[in-house]
Amino acid sequence: MTNTKILVSDGLDGRGQSILRASADVDYRDSTSAEDLLKIIADYDALVVRGQTRVTAGVLEAAARLKVIGRAGVGVDNIDLEASKKHNVTVVNAPTSTTVAVAELAFGLLLALARDIPRGDVSMKQGKWVKKEFEGVELNGKTLGIIGFGRIGMEVGKRAAAFGMNVIIYDPNVSEDELQHGNADPVSLQELFAWSDFISLHLPLNVHTRDLIGPLAFSQMKDGVRIVSTARGGIIDEATLLSALQSGKVAGVGLDVFEKEPPGLTELVAHPRVIATPHIGAQTAEAQSRAAEDIANEVLAALQGKPLRWKVA
Ligand code: NAD
Repeated sequence: MTNTKILVSDGLDGRGQSILRASADVDYRDSTSAEDLLKIIADYDALVVRGQTRVTAGVLEAAARLKVIGRAGVGVDNIDLEASKKHNVTVVNAPTSTTVAVAELAFGLLLALARDIPRGDVSMKQGKWVKKEFEGVELNGKTLGIIGFGRIGMEVGKRAAAFGMNVIIYDPNVSEDELQHGNADPVSLQELFAWSDFISLHLPLNVHTRDLIGPLAFSQMKDGVRIVSTARGGIIDEATLLSALQSGKVAGVGLDVFEKEPPGLTELVAHPRVIATPHIGAQTAEAQSRAAEDIANEVLAALQGKPLRWKVA
């Protein structure tokens, strides 16, 4: 592809860079400010981003040559999809590359909540030896409610079944066939809230799911429920969650995602029954390498007019 120019604006694992460089002229940046992006975007045929670069309507307006945007990962909420359509810019992502990484983090948070592992570690580092305070609960025999039974939810379900949990799921779009492979029972959302000892969220953030876990949902949950969210900030109403933690309704929460990121040291983050991680669901060496390779191949396919595996818009 002669004269094809690709901008990588967010940093990308080396394997992905090599694939792109073999076919095009690549400018690589670890990060790019909004002002810089607006100034330079007109020169490029393709743009590769992770979660940081915001591809706004303004950027797309200035991107005279742009044909494709590749998101090395899943969530495309940093890309204005309406504006991409308007300017005939194809958007592709790499949705399967981070599935296992996120599922393993969600499961790590479930275990950490059940056994209070982070607070145990902090107490040791303070030179203490307190055992009674850290009496936990077992996952075995408990009910895990999974909301959103797609790629990640299914992987979490498999791990939960191996730990002896009863898995119930709520997902309005899941097919009978997928359920058969999933080792999980479908229930209504209200039943899921009423029966779950643990709840793990694996659904997208959109107009239907924003604040889905709000006052009504909490009122339907068991007392002492433990919740994990590695999905997206905004699905849980954080103010109501904080009240539910303070009242003891919710025994613990594992959060990888927040309404505002970074959230800073909010009352929620600082709460002793909250285990917080800085949106690291996809941050494994394997996932980053897979995402870079997948997105590099997909962006080149889009530029060459080949069939696409993961066209978002
Ligand atoms: P997926 O598309 O395979 O699965 C999402 C599932 O949610 C689908 O089956 C869909 O039917 C279901 N769903 C949609 N609306 C729903 C609703 N109202 N109630 C219940 N279910 C609903 O996506 P995935 O790859 O499994 O990813 C799930 C989410 O994880 C993504 O939306 C993304 O926001 C998040 N994610 C987070 C990280 C991280 O770093 N923490 C990394 C990757 C993905």
